[in-house]
Amino acid sequence: MPQHTHASGHVCGHCDGFPTVAVTTGTRNSDGTRRTITAACPACKGTGTTPARRALTTAGR
Ligand SMILES: [Zn+2]
Repeated sequence: MPQHTHASGHVCGHCDGFPTVAVTTGTRNSDGTRRTITAACPACKGTGTTPARRALTTAGR
């Protein structure tokens, strides 16, 4: 089956499995290229998957 075997857990719903994205800061390097920073997803901490549903059980409280 063509499926993402991305360790265990579910694909992070916050970043859809793309935990790190390049963000342009607006500044430029001396050579004229745009400077980018790599931002990790705060929800999955850059792993791309959510380990368990344990922390997300907000219902029924
Ligand atoms: Zn994420």
